[in-house]
Amino acid sequence: MICHIDYEAPDDLLDGKIVLVTGASSGIGRAAAMSYARHGATVILLGRSVSRLEVVYDAIEAMGAPQPAIFPLNLESATSQDYATVATKLEKEFGRLDGLLHNASILGERVTVADADPAIWAQVMQVNFTATLGLTQALLPLLQVSGDASVIFTSSSVGRQGRARWGAYSTSKFATEGLMQILADEHRDSNLRFNSLNPGATRTAMRKAAYPDEDPQVLRTPEEIMPTYLWLMGPESLGTSGRAFDAQPPK
Ligand code: NDP
Repeated sequence: MICHIDYEAPDDLLDGKIVLVTGASSGIGRAAAMSYARHGATVILLGRSVSRLEVVYDAIEAMGAPQPAIFPLNLESATSQDYATVATKLEKEFGRLDGLLHNASILGERVTVADADPAIWAQVMQVNFTATLGLTQALLPLLQVSGDASVIFTSSSVGRQGRARWGAYSTSKFATEGLMQILADEHRDSNLRFNSLNPGATRTAMRKAAYPDEDPQVLRTPEEIMPTYLWLMGPESLGTSGRAFDAQPPK
């Protein structure tokens, strides 16, 4: 396990960087967007609800961080045309992309494979994996312009070890880990880096849905797990690629 929970990022860690965060409206994605902005990045907030993204936008502006941007996109219905549009808009507004945090995901249903609904399985794969792949493909040229961009894929403990009743979600995270490793190998001669990050049990709506009986107070908050998110996005991780990280040590 590689974890940087004690990392203390300098205030100017991401000064001048352009960083896109998917699922930036709530939970871990919101905390990461705020944290990257607080450390100097211009953050592109991507998500399906403009009104929820606007709340994050306002919070970033209120702390005096670089002005963010909102890119609305529903990853459940997104097509290659939509990913291309994101890339074109980014190219026009910023000319490059220095960081990409693939964070948006859905849980799907917690049932056995025998009981799984194929339609829900496909929906989970679309949001958690296929959209991640499409967006990465479309944004690769802009990441290459940056020269030393960092791409972080959000994984899960069930993306590294299968577990009963985690069906599509677990499968989507295994696929994400595989994509990360393939990209890291394909770009091993460049300064582009691709790593995966398992947040670990974190106090969010998704965790509540997965474990309704758990006391949320025993869990770390999204803000508390940010050190590894910052380390991976910042220059100290240059040269590290194809690795699986954990944002917190196991309990
Ligand atoms: P939340 O459910 O709290 O947040 C998920 C985010 O993804 C929200 O911003 C949500 O937007 C967005 N999203 C969902 N569907 C779509 C869609 N169709 N299009 C665009 N955006 C969408 O989850 P967490 O913050 O807990 O999870 C963040 C990441 O961490 C996920 O990848 C998850 O798998 C992973 N993870 C979380 C753990 C935990 O304990 N919390 C443990 C292990 C992994 P909206 O606000 O509109 O719903």
